[in-house]
Parts: sequence; structure tokens; C-alpha cells
Amino acid sequence: MLIAHRIALDPNNVQATYLARAAGTARFAYNWALAEWKRQYEAWKADNSLPKPSQAALRRQLNAVKREQFPWMLEVTKNAPQMAIIQLGQAFQNFFAGRARYPQFRKKGRDDRFTLTNDQFSLDGCRIRIPNLGWVRMRESLRFTGKIMSATVSRVADRWFVSIAVDTQDDSHLPKAESQGVVGVDLGVSALATLSTGEKVPGPKPHKARLGRLRRLSRSLSRKRKGSANRRKAKEKLARLHARIANGRLDALHKLTTGLTRRFSLIGVEGLNVRGMMGNRRLARSISDMGFFEFRRQLEYKAAMRGGEVVVADRFFSSSKTCSHCGHPLESLPLSVRQWTCPACGAEHDRDVNAAMNLKNVAVSSTVSACGEEGSGSARKRRVKPASAKQEVSFVPV
Ligand SMILES: [Zn+2]
Repeated sequence: MLIAHRIALDPNNVQATYLARAAGTARFAYNWALAEWKRQYEAWKADNSLPKPSQAALRRQLNAVKREQFPWMLEVTKNAPQMAIIQLGQAFQNFFAGRARYPQFRKKGRDDRFTLTNDQFSLDGCRIRIPNLGWVRMRESLRFTGKIMSATVSRVADRWFVSIAVDTQDDSHLPKAESQGVVGVDLGVSALATLSTGEKVPGPKPHKARLGRLRRLSRSLSRKRKGSANRRKAKEKLARLHARIANGRLDALHKLTTGLTRRFSLIGVEGLNVRGMMGNRRLARSISDMGFFEFRRQLEYKAAMRGGEVVVADRFFSSSKTCSHCGHPLESLPLSVRQWTCPACGAEHDRDVNAAMNLKNVAVSSTVSACGEEGSGSARKRRVKPASAKQEVSFVPV
């Protein structure tokens, strides 16, 4: 299985300049190819005898002109422009398959990265060798064993990282499993997560805690004159704060998903209609803070590493508004209502625990052999419609 280890780099000034230049070259190549793609596609629409754009053709096209038009590209690894265009091809593939939006132009400061193929770098303990640059110190050595596939060097605020992708069969890096069976997880606004066991995992709420500082820094930035050194410094300060916030958030998510996949082999989660919820501005900040998509992504790959399974409930299944005891659906349940009593069976519910219980039930019913499957061993993910009392469970494979 493919797994990546992200390691902080310790470049000296000369090396940092090179890394920035390579990332800039990659961004330029990506944006050049995207603009060409759009132009060639329009031309093809007008005249079908012309070739349709492709990443392979665009790479050949760039190679043919770069010596003359963009000689500075030759100062960095040839992987930087090449891999960027290959990644553009992948972005278009994801777009055509309906997995992603139309590719966007890369932006300086946000997309500072370049990728190396495994024949273009080598590792030796705590250092990595990059073409035209030499050895760069890493903060730690690679944690995984296996075939090294690629390395992506990226900048976050003022720090550089390398993310090394390894194809590994070895799962000794996983903390010991202690399977306790099934759990339902309700991701929330007040708590990061509520488990069907009744546990509540508090979130880091980084945004809220540092919102004041964030606002002050952004204001201070907007007062600085454009192009001035003070503006650059204020910008760096703000970027560092953003990076710290993101780190805290990611750390909490990793701890949660590691804990869950370690403790439970079958995990029911909500197929949250994030888009719908993001429309609600009051909710939007908490949701983007918590990173629901990232939660699902981590949960799915970590469960897959352990042979566990994540069951995603149908996104229209109202886990909050259904009684987990008798299945009675409520007409409405305002967000402010944290406790309620089922009018049908009289069960007392904590809003979030009840939702988690429902998701647990969805996970359990998905493994009932309705389609001739006894499923807890396979690591596939499924979308499952909620089981009503009499209906059989239906599977919608992803
Ligand atoms: Zn009930």
C-alpha cells in the first residue's frame, strides 16, 4: 500500500533559494500547460481535425521550446516542470471522472511545491540528495521500508518539507490494534466527535481560539504599503499563524482517526452533506475548522491499512432526527436542542450520542448478509442507505 512520510527539511540559504526556484518553475510549467490546454481545447472544438490536448503532448511541446523561451528552467531539476504537467494531466483525469473541480491555476505562496521521481533523488539516513543541489538535511529519517516511489518538496509558510511516498507491505508502524467491534461516529460542531459509546472527543477549535490574533494580523497586513519590506514581514507572520492553526487541527484529526481505527474494526460515519451545511454561515467556520473531508480520508486509509471498514451512511439519512431506539423520525430538531425525548418510545436522547448510535446501526446493518456478504474483513468503503425496520438494506457501491 502507498503511504507517505512528510519530513521537515533543514535547507541552508542557498538550498532554500534553489527549492523556491524549483517550486516556481513547477508552478510556471503547470500554469503554462493549463493555459495551453484551454487554448488547444478551444481550437479542437472549432476544428476537430486538430489534436485534443494531452499532458504527454504538452510536455513534448514545453521541452521543445524551453531551451529558447525559458532558459532559466534548466537551472533546476527537469522533474520540476515535467512532473507538474503530469500532475495537470491527473487533475484533468480527476475532473473528467467527476472526482474534482476543473483544474485551477497554481498560486505563489499557496502551491509552492515540486515533485521528484524516484530515479532523481536518493536518501541516506537524515538527508536527501536533490539534482543540481546536492544533499539537504532532513529532520528525521524515513520511517517506512519498501519501494520508494516519489518525493514532493513543498513549502508551508517559511518551512520546507519533503513528502516521500513509499509502497510498503510492512505495517509494523501501526500502533497495536485492540478491536472492540463496531462504533458510530458523529462529527459535530460543539465536540469534534461523539462516539456511540457515549464518549465525546473535544475539538481543538483552533480558529476560534486564535481568531483574534488572526484578525489583528490580517488588519496589520492590510495597512502595510504594497511592495514594502514591512508588508512582506507581516505576510510571513500571518502565514506562520495559519500554518500553526492547520497543524493543531491536523494533529487532533490524526489522533482521532488513529484511535478509532485502532479500537474499532467497523466504523459508521455520516455521509455529511457538507456543501449544504456550508451554506449555513453560522456553521461554516466550525465545519471548515474541523476538516470533515480530511477526517473521512484519514479514517478510510487507516482502516484500510488494518483491514477494517468504514461505512458511510447515505447523505440524506438524518442521523440526528431519528430515534436510535425505535426508529421514529422527528419532523424537525433545531440545532439548539441538545437533549430530547422520543415521542414514540419515550427514550431519552443526547442529540450527538443518538446520532452516533444511528450511524453504528447503519454500520451493523450493512454487514448483515443482505447481498450475500458477510462483511467486516474487507477494507472497501460503501455507501449505505439507512435500514428501516422492515426494509432490506441496499448497497450503493462507490
Ligand atoms: Zn423512539
